[in-house]
Amino acid sequence: MTAEKIVVVGAGYTGLAAAKLAAKWTGAEVTLVNASDRFVERVRLHQLASGQRLRDLPLRDLLAGTGARLVVGRVRAIDPDAREVLLDDGAPIGYDKLIYALGSHANLDGVPGAAEHAYTVASRADAERLRAKLSGSRTVAVVGGGLTGVEAAAELAEAHPGLKVSLVTGGPLGAALSERGTRHLHRVFGRLGVDVRENAKVIEVRADGLVLADGDTVEADTVVWTAGFVVSSIAAEAGFDVDAAGRMVVDEALRSVSHPDVIAIGDAAAIRLANGLELRMACATGLPTTQHAVRVLAGKATGSPRFRYFNQCISLGRRDALIQFVRADDSPVDAVLKGRIAAFYKEAVVRGTILFERHPVLPTSP
Ligand SMILES: Cc1cc2nc3c(=O)[nH]c(=O)nc-3n(C[C@H](O)[C@H](O)[C@H](O)COP(=O)(O)OP(=O)(O)OC[C@H]3O[C@@H](n4cnc5c(N)ncnc54)[C@H](O)[C@@H]3O)c2cc1C
Repeated sequence: MTAEKIVVVGAGYTGLAAAKLAAKWTGAEVTLVNASDRFVERVRLHQLASGQRLRDLPLRDLLAGTGARLVVGRVRAIDPDAREVLLDDGAPIGYDKLIYALGSHANLDGVPGAAEHAYTVASRADAERLRAKLSGSRTVAVVGGGLTGVEAAAELAEAHPGLKVSLVTGGPLGAALSERGTRHLHRVFGRLGVDVRENAKVIEVRADGLVLADGDTVEADTVVWTAGFVVSSIAAEAGFDVDAAGRMVVDEALRSVSHPDVIAIGDAAAIRLANGLELRMACATGLPTTQHAVRVLAGKATGSPRFRYFNQCISLGRRDALIQFVRADDSPVDAVLKGRIAAFYKEAVVRGTILFERHPVLPTSP
């Protein structure tokens, strides 16, 4: 009898772990397809943009000894009837089961001028472009007060003390944080000289800055757009059920509701728990749900993943951070960690993700 063929598309945080776990636990022949031959530490891309070096992580090294095969190529389409993944170059790759893990990218379509003038930190190439642009910059406006915008503004300001950095957010700063957490953000931005513009809706991006809905402008020779991530259109184009954001709609075992031989994980999946909680795009949600998906594939689990949030870990440069502790549903409680100890905590979490990618494990209980 020939072994079942599992193809994983996307070798980010979830796809790489899924391929390694599936190779170990399912007995299937596993092929991992990724656009590049390197693993990208996406949660450090604001560090790369600010001029720091990231370690080189070849996927072949990370897969060594696992039995999973790597194909470097860009997925162009999926044919769910023929059960084939189609690449820009090369022969189609047939599957019995497909794990869809293509992640997300920056959304520059919502506001006029953003696609032409804004930079992002969503991919390695994006972050490298921003790093190059910053060498000739004096003023930077970071748009978006979510975790990515906060981390990017702090990192850029700390790494480039001569740069004038603004953070422009459509709502109040720290909308998802406790009062103590928000106070800490304001304190750190004050120390770093970041000018915070709250409740400021950007209606246009220009070469020389931003236009706000109230008619005001923010001068910036570089605009960093962090307000929103979108997913590839490949799932929708292939005919899979997707939500309004284009993410693949999955059941409690992370199987596509329209094509149960396809499993979606990470940012590309619309995951709703049995209790109704919709999971946000994050490693914090992607890694445990990936473990669950492989446990189901390996016949070790059924039903919904047992998942709860614990904290939000926000870097504020290399010497400060905010760890906001949260309830199971991600709503903030009053407890926070801040300062150097929080920076150590955050760094340990980020290093922990790479340790997991090197040696992924399946929990023994659900
Ligand atoms: C700057 C930044 C900081 C962040 N910080 C945090 C944090 O502190 N904590 C946290 O939990 N989350 C954080 N996130 C979010 C986190 O990085 C994502 O949720 C996570 O990367 C999602 O994992 P994934 O496997 O779904 O996708 P990714 O890690 O993005 O991987 C997707 C993979 O698919 C490949 N790919 C895409 N399209 C194709 C194609 N057509 N063909 C072939 N390959 C393709 C990509 O090259 C990539 O290797 C951060 C994100 C950013 C941008």
